[in-house]
Amino acid sequence: MRRILLWMASNAWLRDRVPRLWFARRAVRRFMPGEDIEAALAAATTFEKDGIGTLYTHLGENLTALTEADEVAAHYLDVLDRIKAAGLRGEISLKLTQLGFDLDVERTFEHASALAERAAELDGTLWIDMEGSAYTERTVAFYERLKAVHPNIGLCLQSYLRRTAADIQRLLPLDPAIRLVKGAYAEPEAIAWQSKHDVDTSYVALAVAMLDAKKGGRAVRVGLGTHDLRLIEQIANHAAAIGLDRRDAFEIQMLYGIRVDEQRRLAREGYAVRDLISYGEHWYPWYVRRLAERPANVIFVLRQIVSR
Ligand SMILES: Cc1cc2nc3c(=O)[nH]c(=O)nc-3n(C[C@H](O)[C@H](O)[C@H](O)COP(=O)(O)OP(=O)(O)OC[C@H]3O[C@@H](n4cnc5c(N)ncnc54)[C@H](O)[C@@H]3O)c2cc1C
Repeated sequence: MRRILLWMASNAWLRDRVPRLWFARRAVRRFMPGEDIEAALAAATTFEKDGIGTLYTHLGENLTALTEADEVAAHYLDVLDRIKAAGLRGEISLKLTQLGFDLDVERTFEHASALAERAAELDGTLWIDMEGSAYTERTVAFYERLKAVHPNIGLCLQSYLRRTAADIQRLLPLDPAIRLVKGAYAEPEAIAWQSKHDVDTSYVALAVAMLDAKKGGRAVRVGLGTHDLRLIEQIANHAAAIGLDRRDAFEIQMLYGIRVDEQRRLAREGYAVRDLISYGEHWYPWYVRRLAERPANVIFVLRQIVSR
């Protein structure tokens, strides 16, 4: 089921047609407060009351024209201004391909630099998502280049990739901000662990390596981008065992609509928690990847049809 859904996520024919179906539009609301930034900011106000910060992603990837990248950059600059005006603890998280990475790396660099500068005015971090493995090396290298100029840049790394332990060691000297996730794409066995057990084991080992580096004096900001409470608990136990305060050791980052009660509970218990809110009309590939993470969600979509 996961493989089929990941194939569907990358299928252009479906991408053009599924978003027009009423039941798909209704089902996506579970993971997205709305298609525009106003809906995302309104949702953030509720999270702020519960002591939960926010991250924003305007959905879209693999653009075909540079003018689209210019529009995306202008949009995110405006979002940062709105976050500031609303007094929210908000940060943005984007895919480099949204900024034209496939078309013009220098233009992507200019856009990312402008966004990093604007984010710095809010004391915030500009987060870079990690895409499929065709982009991994290029994205890590881009991160190194951008981080040399702007200190407030974060990067997502995936525990299913065998290379990630080396990437963390490569980046630690830069005092990085790293969001660790399991990984959302279909990757071959030659480069990625396939079983949940191996991906989870890798996840804990990588998080522990970052926390140990932090304990050793590295200024690494650790984001745990997972809904896996069992792993979070294991990592929290390790942080406590080496004497790191739970609030400073790491930040838990979860997606809008997933385990929201747990997000609130963790915030109440004194952990730093951030909710990533996605919005935008180009939600199809992102949404189908969410279904692939938990195929039981497909039943939720089917229920929308039955309950009409
Ligand atoms: C803040 C954030 C940013 C991310 N950024 C990236 C990125 O840049 N690149 C990338 O490749 N991936 C990214 N991901 C996705 C990530 O790689 C995983 O695919 C996703 O988080 C599901 O894995 P999990 O760690 O929650 O663990 P899993 O083992 O998949 O899930 C653990 C438990 O969480 C719950 N759960 C998980 N997913 C869902 C869901 N969709 N619906 C309902 N319940 C669910 C279930 O109860 C499940 O048993 C991001 C995830 C988060 C939270």
